[in-house]
Amino acid sequence: MLLVGGEWKPPCRSWQKLAIVVPYRDRYHHLLQLLDRLHAMLKKQLVHYKIFVVEQLGEGKFNRGRLLNVGVVEALKDQPFDCFVFHDVDLLPEDDRNIYHCNENVHHPISALDEMRYHIMYYNYLGGVLTINRDNVFKANGHSNDYWGWGNEDDDFNARLSSTMEIGLMLTRPPENIGRFKMVRHAKLWRESHG
Ligand code: UDP
Ligand code: MN
Repeated sequence: MLLVGGEWKPPCRSWQKLAIVVPYRDRYHHLLQLLDRLHAMLKKQLVHYKIFVVEQLGEGKFNRGRLLNVGVVEALKDQPFDCFVFHDVDLLPEDDRNIYHCNENVHHPISALDEMRYHIMYYNYLGGVLTINRDNVFKANGHSNDYWGWGNEDDDFNARLSSTMEIGLMLTRPPENIGRFKMVRHAKLWRESHG
């Protein structure tokens, strides 16, 4: 049974505790679809998880990085999660075998996006959904707080993690037949209010 606050624990012992952090504003029908999908899939994966929807209020430019940082801070006040899953509201994993987990590196569960004819945009793309363990989030000092409006906070995060920085993490992805995602269609209103 789902616990209050969008948490679920398997009957067996879970190898990791996942905090799923969803940056959110005004995408209610996406949120319902995502929650349906994640609860169904993660229960099958027998993992202990809790979903944190971090909502930005007001009409100002959206700041995805800031919301993800707030998610980490608030989640850790709740429980000592080992693993953070930063999850856009409009991306639905298609395959239950796409095991959400953290490793010692950065894991990007998206290998194939329906909108991109089941490819990804570019090798270093870390957008959409990303899993990273707690130590590495802190080593990277989280996301930048300074990207308002659409884009670039994900590439900035990649730069914080990559070999040019001290951390030097590798990037892992599931095989292409498993890391398939559906992107729910939405108006690109936010895109228009760039930077
Ligand atoms: N987002 C949101 N409301 C907005 C803009 C963004 O909830 O008005 C969140 C949502 O989780 C979304 C993510 O930020 O999936 C990335 O934004 P968007 O989907 O517009 O970016 P794109 O798909 O173009 O990368
Ligand atoms: Mn999107």
